[in-house]
Amino acid sequence: MKKGKIIILSAPSGTGKSTIIARLMEKPDLKLGFSVSATSRLPRGAEKHGCEYYFLTPEEFKLKVDNDEFVEWEEVYQGTCYGTLVSEVERVTGAGYNLIMDIDVKGALNVKKRYGADAISIFILPPSLEELERRLRARSTDSEESITKRLSKAEYEMSFSDGFDKRVVNDNLDTASQEVESLIKEFID
Ligand code: 5GP
Repeated sequence: MKKGKIIILSAPSGTGKSTIIARLMEKPDLKLGFSVSATSRLPRGAEKHGCEYYFLTPEEFKLKVDNDEFVEWEEVYQGTCYGTLVSEVERVTGAGYNLIMDIDVKGALNVKKRYGADAISIFILPPSLEELERRLRARSTDSEESITKRLSKAEYEMSFSDGFDKRVVNDNLDTASQEVESLIKEFID
């Protein structure tokens, strides 16, 4: 069986990345398998171990770092680590599925470096920082402090976009999803 390839998606929070990934997962011809990351944070709401994340204690996470079990890991938020396990990449690509990863910018660039031509890195951009601010306010799940934090993080993350193989502006969700889908098709064919 042909081994699957690696598709890395990164985007600032509020850019529509999760919605785009959910739409892509519904396309059987892309043969995608989602990469379940490990995290040292606690589950939120209805999140389940092995579904959204592998939830580890900070000690368990550190042990896996020391044992070299991660392809990459980052302290994405202060005190909270996220990482992709080697076993997860093997599980999905080994079964012939293309692995889709939703990871932060630094992790994305590290994975691309490690897998080279077997991976494509795609950065999803908001039309502008002003529009991103408007969207974050419209979803009204974030406090003023959290919006300010996310915006400054977004600006920082966007400064890495040139290092990605491809960039897609999410001006319109349908168009952006289609654009990402074509990029993936071209890459896996
Ligand atoms: P959440 O809102 O789920 O707590 O945090 C998601 C953040 O962690 C996003 O920025 C997401 O891209 C990043 N993230 C999730 N999994 C991984 C991973 O395996 N590696 C890295 N480097 N970042 C990750």
